[in-house]
Amino acid sequence: MANPALQEIVCCMGQPVEGNPTQFMMERAFAAAGLDWRYLTLEVPPALLGDAVRGLRAMGFRGGNFTIPHKVAVIEYLDELSEAARLMGAVNCVHRVGERLIGENTDGKGFVDSLRVKTEPQGKRVVLLGAGGAARAIAVELGLAGVAELTVVNRSAERGQELANLLAGQVRIAGRYVPWEGDFVVPEDTDILIQATSIGLGDAAARVPVDVASLREGLVVADVIFNPAETRLLREAAQRGCVTLDGLGMLVNQAVIGFRIWTGVDPDPLVMREALEEYLEV
Ligand code: NDP
Repeated sequence: MANPALQEIVCCMGQPVEGNPTQFMMERAFAAAGLDWRYLTLEVPPALLGDAVRGLRAMGFRGGNFTIPHKVAVIEYLDELSEAARLMGAVNCVHRVGERLIGENTDGKGFVDSLRVKTEPQGKRVVLLGAGGAARAIAVELGLAGVAELTVVNRSAERGQELANLLAGQVRIAGRYVPWEGDFVVPEDTDILIQATSIGLGDAAARVPVDVASLREGLVVADVIFNPAETRLLREAAQRGCVTLDGLGMLVNQAVIGFRIWTGVDPDPLVMREALEEYLEV
């Protein structure tokens, strides 16, 4: 029998959810790595977040994921932030080092790791659709990875401009905002188009307002939506000869990075990918 003293706990704090694909991946990966660890999905109301983080400290959890609506609010209860988390102003992964709680953001890193399977971002011209939490994490990480230029296209001008300002200011890359009016025409010199809005979540027929004729052969088209894995945008992009990247890789990779941060062990990404596909029934 495993020594109970060896058991460690990490958790996910968020709003009520029906199921948690990250928990499913983590539990499979713990078992595959021979670690007697647990991953708990905990429903935490915003007003009790401080108590919950104090509980995490008091009970000696190794860390946790923080999801909507806690990604920004959790920062005030932490002792330190990674550079990416500081720039994004959002944390989705916390780990404990001694008595200190350190905030990280693995969403953008997870995306960049999955993108690298298709293309190296350094020096590339990127168009990013969206300026919400996922887009922000991706934009900062792409900036740190050395993209040449990043154009933020967003419906709300305020959020779009704010992200472009962050990129041009603190991240120090050529970032600009373009309002999203009608069907967006992807500029010819674009290397990578990233769909980071919530359009298409749970709806394989949902249309992202992009001029399909501007999706030229060889353009890398990525979508953060993982359910369904094959979005309408990716389907149409593939038909036009684009290189496509679905949102599953980002989700798997943020879990791979979190696992490594907490345990110090490299998990088997294939085990996690298979677990996610099984969970999503794809
Ligand atoms: P947010 O609510 O923070 O941002 C939503 C974004 O989508 C905003 O830019 C918003 O624009 C835009 N948007 C929503 N509806 C429309 C529309 N009809 N037309 C144009 N723009 C629209 O969400 P997140 O950034 O946290 O999440 C976005 C998506 O990313 C979610 O579907 C989530 O599932 C997915 N995701 C995937 C991950 C993965 O690992 N694959 C990880 C994290 C998220 P505006 O500012 O104008 O409102």
